[in-house]
Formats: sequence, structure tokens, C-alpha cells
Amino acid sequence: MLHAYPSPAMVVKTSYLHVVMRLKNGLYIFLFVGLIAVMQSCGHAEEEKKTVTEAIEPPIPKPVKESVTTAEQQKALTPAIILQNLKDGNKRFTDNNVTARDHSKLVRDAVAGQYPKSVILSCLDSRIPVEDVFDKGIGDMFVARVAGNVVNTDILGSMEYACKVSGSKLIVIMGHSNCGAVKSAIDNVQLGNITGLLARIKPAVQLSQTYAGEKTSKNIEYTDVVGNNNVLYAIEQVKKLSPVLNEMIQKEQIKIVGAYYDMKTGKVTFTE
Ligand SMILES: [Zn+2]
Repeated sequence: MLHAYPSPAMVVKTSYLHVVMRLKNGLYIFLFVGLIAVMQSCGHAEEEKKTVTEAIEPPIPKPVKESVTTAEQQKALTPAIILQNLKDGNKRFTDNNVTARDHSKLVRDAVAGQYPKSVILSCLDSRIPVEDVFDKGIGDMFVARVAGNVVNTDILGSMEYACKVSGSKLIVIMGHSNCGAVKSAIDNVQLGNITGLLARIKPAVQLSQTYAGEKTSKNIEYTDVVGNNNVLYAIEQVKKLSPVLNEMIQKEQIKIVGAYYDMKTGKVTFTE
């Protein structure tokens, strides 16, 4: 006669299967919880990474919109406003916050004509990118460059063209610290055409003879004294040798100022 009860072997087998099933379910739950934990930690890591990246690389400043100066805009400006614009531009330069420009567009927009606001006479020095120093773009300023920012007939002719013909209203003579041309003039260097060039800086060396300290090119303070006198001398030369510009200055149609670029900081100090 067959009994309805399971045999002892069957009981053992059923219990075994039951335990295995429970273990498998437990394992699945364990794996599932583990997976969520891993995903969450990945998310945190991603957030932390983002925060660190943002700390190292601050967001790019919003570009200032700028278009090529028009004849009407140039006409409406005064020398004082243009000077202030240069000061503001130099502040952006030293703050490392210069304007982002669409150069291709500016090139195309400037084809029809140019109405620059100022003319800058700067030294040849490769470490002074003049437009960048004032955060200016295409068509904004005339830039004349010659070692030691000295004045000669061609420079005067260029300035007369800028102001009398093209309507610029501000002349800036910009010297700079650590100027090789100024140092060479102090050292009385004689070499090829450089000798004639340095002769134009010699008057500034003469003007600096009252300096009480060591009068050599190794003395940075002295080279700055000569460099600043060289700027002031160039301003006087412009007034003296260009009746065209001098008349415009006297009538306050234009203004002429000195400037000195600090090589260490990028800051320009104006002398009005
Ligand atoms: Zn120089």
C-alpha cells in the first residue's frame, strides 16, 4: 500500500531546494543593492569631478559685443572719452578679461573705410602687443612702432595723416620699462643705423642728468627716469616739429598724452 507521506529522502531533497532558492534570492538582493550603491558612488564621483573642474577652470566671461567704429561714432567722441576707453581697455587686459572678437566679421566690416579713434606711438619691443594692451580690435587705433618710440619726419607725417585726414583725436606716446633702446642710448652703443636711432633718445639721457643715483643701464630706476623723459621729449618734438598737429592741439581738436607700460604687470600709466 502506498503512503501519501513523502519519503525521508524526498523531505531532505525538498528542504535542500528550499534553502538553495532562498540563498539565490538573497544573492540577487545583495547584488541589486550593491549595484545601486556603485551607481550612486559613481554619480558622486562625477559631481565631485565637475566641482573640481569648475574650480580650476572658471566659466569663460561673456564676450563684449564690438563693431568697427563708424564715421558718426568717431565724430561724436571727445579726446577725453577716447583716453578713458584706453584706460578701461588696459584694465581688462591686466584683469585677463579681454573682449572676445569675431575677427573675420570685423575684417569684412572694415573694408569700406577706417575711422580710428587714436594713434599710438610705441616701441618696437615684441613684448608689447599694442592693440591687446588696450583691448582694441580691427580699425580701432593707428599704431606706429619704432625702437625707443622716437619721433622723426615719417612718424610725424603718419600722425598728421591719422589726425588731420582720418579724424583720430588722441595721440599717445608710449614708452615702457626695461627698454633695450633706452638702455643702449644710456650705454652709448654704436652700431650701424642703430647709432642714428639712439641719437634721438640721447636728449632724454641729457634731461636725466639731475638724477641723484647711479646713472647706468643696470639701474632700473634710472632707465625708467630716462624712459619717461624720452616720452615727454617726444611729446615736445611733436608740438615743435608739426605745425599741423600743434594747431589741432591748441584748438583742442585733439589731445596728446604720454604713457608708460610696466613690463611686469602690463599696466599703462598715463601722463596728461
Ligand atoms: Zn623698447
